Amino acid sequence: MKKKIITIDGWSACGKSTLAKQLAKKLGYVYIDSGAMYRAITLYFLRNHVDWTDNNEVEEALKSINIEFHFNFKSQQSEIFLNDENVEYLIRDLVIADKVSDVASIRAVREFAVAEQQKMGENKGIVMDGRDIGTTVFPDADIKIFMTADSCIRVERRFKELFDKNPNITIDEVKNNLEMRDYIDSNREVSPLRKAEDAVVLDNSNLSMQQQLDFALALVK
Ligand code: C5P
Repeated sequence: MKKKIITIDGWSACGKSTLAKQLAKKLGYVYIDSGAMYRAITLYFLRNHVDWTDNNEVEEALKSINIEFHFNFKSQQSEIFLNDENVEYLIRDLVIADKVSDVASIRAVREFAVAEQQKMGENKGIVMDGRDIGTTVFPDADIKIFMTADSCIRVERRFKELFDKNPNITIDEVKNNLEMRDYIDSNREVSPLRKAEDAVVLDNSNLSMQQQLDFALALVK
């Protein structure tokens, strides 16, 4: 079968990366977590005290950022490297989640990330998840999925994930963060989160992992 580009966009914490990983594994495709790129840029800005309201500082800082994904055969996961440092774990922290949507709304940041993402898709055979993948990064993608799920279920799922790493986290913190990010992501000026006209909606509130994979595989075939 000819290699395809598959895009998965949607709201925060509705299981995009889980489905993207399942699909990539099943099809032998590369999985790219575009949100991890915005998170890694945010980590760099925070660590280096970059004032992201200042365009010149942002442009300068972006010149020093190199982002790569490497497949870890031990964990069987693709992991993100910021300037050769594995930051896969660090970028999941709520400190990053609190700022990432502000950073991701900056035009220069988006231009930088989108150019990298398009390069990664040059050879097709890729599943990429995010917010603007079907609309801006790969508007001609072969298959576009827009994911959604009940907001309470999304909060619970993300809370469980984060609680495993940080037992001090509260459900309200998680809920507020998801609501804030969804608001900023869907109202920003550059590439706001929205469903591409030709995307298929997948609501996985009541689906098992196998059912959502079957749904997506049916689209691929
Ligand atoms: O997917 P994840 O929740 O890790 O993404 C973190 C944040 O990165 C999102 O809330 C959004 O602000 C930003 N993002 C984006 N465009 C993408 C992927 C993520 O703006 N394609």
